[in-house]
Amino acid sequence: MAKQRSRHPNKEIEKALVYAEEQGWRVTLLNGHAWGKIQCPWNDAECRCGTFCQVSVWSTPRVPEHMAHNIHRAVDGCKRQMALAAAKTGDRLRPKGDNYG
Ligand SMILES: [Zn+2]
Repeated sequence: MAKQRSRHPNKEIEKALVYAEEQGWRVTLLNGHAWGKIQCPWNDAECRCGTFCQVSVWSTPRVPEHMAHNIHRAVDGCKRQMALAAAKTGDRLRPKGDNYG
């Protein structure tokens, strides 16, 4: 809430950007041909930086839904994020689940 970034003109994409921000991703505005880009906050070898963990955001993509989907996929696909999610649900730590094994 402290700083306000420009909104993306497309509603679907803006929603995806907000989602990315909620996961701790950084939204960077660009002045060039792309509207901006998003980057995962874990800029290290653990995640798939350069491929999954950075997404260029176009101002007027041909199919906005695809762009939004891409953003979601990148955020969800970040290895670090998956590890976090696994830790949260306790998938690995649960000693014995009801239906485990
Ligand atoms: Zn990452």
